[in-house]
Amino acid sequence: MLLRWVRRAALALAVLLVLAIAFLVVQARRHPPLDDYQALTLPPAPAGAAVTVRFAGVATLLFDDGETAWMTDGFFSRPGMRQTFFGRIGPDAAAIDSALKRLGITRLAAVVPVHSHYDHAMDSPTVALRTGAVLIGSNSTMQIGFGAGLPPAQLREVQPGDTVRLGKFSVSFIASRHSPTPWSDGVSVENIMAPVVPPTRAPAWREGQVWSIVVEHASGGRWLIEGSAGFIPGALAGRRVDTVFLGVGTLGRKDDAYRSAYWHETVQLTGAKRVVPIHWDDFWLPLDQPLQAMPLLFDDFGTTMADLSQRAKQDGVELRLPPLFTPFAP
Ligand SMILES: [Zn+2]
Repeated sequence: MLLRWVRRAALALAVLLVLAIAFLVVQARRHPPLDDYQALTLPPAPAGAAVTVRFAGVATLLFDDGETAWMTDGFFSRPGMRQTFFGRIGPDAAAIDSALKRLGITRLAAVVPVHSHYDHAMDSPTVALRTGAVLIGSNSTMQIGFGAGLPPAQLREVQPGDTVRLGKFSVSFIASRHSPTPWSDGVSVENIMAPVVPPTRAPAWREGQVWSIVVEHASGGRWLIEGSAGFIPGALAGRRVDTVFLGVGTLGRKDDAYRSAYWHETVQLTGAKRVVPIHWDDFWLPLDQPLQAMPLLFDDFGTTMADLSQRAKQDGVELRLPPLFTPFAP
């Protein structure tokens, strides 16, 4: 009698386990639709725009004024989900070259990771080696540069509060926080303590300092790049910008209080009149196909956009999406 009961319980548990795994596998492949947001996509930059920006997925943004070009992140390899979670990853030279070609880049002044996780900083040293760019970032980012064999002349460490001039651009580094995730509480900072030599496991690219990056151009434009959906209360008070490139990864899984605070700290405090969500695409898919939103297992882009639309409407802020690879006026 007891034996039969134990067997039944074991069978039921096994069935539940299989169902749970099946659910996770399905949710890891289900992408919320993007069709509803087509109309929000920014048009190509008009001729004569003082500054153009190109978006290349996640938080990679290429700024160009015709004299000086520089970019955040430069993450193009986008290794698949299975390899990222269970294998070793490293820069994919062919994917990087193809993306740089598509972006029309031959020379870059700088490549600036928003923090040191692999989906931002893994390819940055390779981009620097290909383009002559200086890798600018935290000490953790420098460790990624060392591991890739980047020469000292192409490494520049910055501290919170520093401003770097790149031609007519000035780029200011303000300490911020990562979005809290199952892998990171968003408050404690995990630094990289030794050179990262790829290929290696994804967690080797530890977070390092997370930045809010304020960009100003001599022509008058001012922009904020918030790579991760985190914030330090009050850190951006007194900074005025026109547009926020707003990292929204995991925002669809946060509660209303968190989303409200994030909007307040990044959009209301800076007086921005336009918000352009970034870091919403499934970065386990390659860049040679149209972007898809992050799978439902990890985020919910529909919820994020519904929430942002409502806040934007309330505050008279324009909510737009960046086109992939096409230059637009920021
Ligand atoms: Zn991150």
